Amino acid sequence: MAYNQLLTDQIALVTGASRGIGRAIAIALGREGAEVIVNYSNSPEKAQEVVEEITQAGGKAYKLEANVSDENSVDELIKTILEKNKHIDVLVNNAGITRDGLLMRMKTRDWQEVINLNLSGVFLCTRAVSRQMIKQRKGRIINITSVVGLMGNAGQANYAAAKAGVIGLTKSSAKEFASRGITVNAVAPGFISTDMTKDLKTDSILSAIPLGSFGSPEHIAGTVKFLAGDPAASYITGQVIQVDGGMVMS
Ligand code: NAP
Repeated sequence: MAYNQLLTDQIALVTGASRGIGRAIAIALGREGAEVIVNYSNSPEKAQEVVEEITQAGGKAYKLEANVSDENSVDELIKTILEKNKHIDVLVNNAGITRDGLLMRMKTRDWQEVINLNLSGVFLCTRAVSRQMIKQRKGRIINITSVVGLMGNAGQANYAAAKAGVIGLTKSSAKEFASRGITVNAVAPGFISTDMTKDLKTDSILSAIPLGSFGSPEHIAGTVKFLAGDPAASYITGQVIQVDGGMVMS
């Protein structure tokens, strides 16, 4: 696998990059010449596999453990990257979990865990890189939300609220950072084949997708790569790009 030049000399942090969509994003950015920090929480071996896939193809990558829902852990993560690399050009806030259940019976803990990681984690990582990106007067922040944040979903009140919150956070931070040369956009996947959705491929879900199938992590990675690139995406900020096989059309 030869690698291209779109992101040469750039430092890119992808949260939750050990598996699924984050893995595909890390590999796609690595192929474009970025040095990729593969963040993980519980899967060090899988994170190492991602690092090896990038480096064996001639790219640069290393892995760092951090729980992105924990303030100290996030601050330590960014400090470690800046000590080593001196700058950070791309942040992809990808890490996410589900704890599904009907609202009436939803445990407070399941509500909080999902909000803490899927929404507060995006805030913590964005805040932690913002000082450096402002100093650089350059940066790309790409948040992975979900079409569920646009349309709601029975059984996912916690997840939908977090993902809708990510959209508000994306637009607010885009407005705050625009004058500093930093763009902030969100990608809203529909159903993508990963561990998160492995039990969901039912006929009723498939029939709701006009293009007729689940997407792949590479579909999301392609859009993230576009949003990270210059000059194609340099005039795009505060947007939510749906990659959902036509599932939600507004
Ligand atoms: P996944 O396969 O379950 O992978 C989740 C990733 O998040 C793993 O790499 C995991 O790392 C990491 N992670 C979990 N807790 C973490 C923590 N506390 N700190 C840091 N990393 C943590 O999920 P996915 O389907 O790829 O989803 C990725 C993103 O896309 C999520 O934000 C999800 O909400 C969003 N999304 C997915 C779909 C879909 O259909 N799959 C649709 C819409 C949106 P470890 O294993 O190392 O803990």
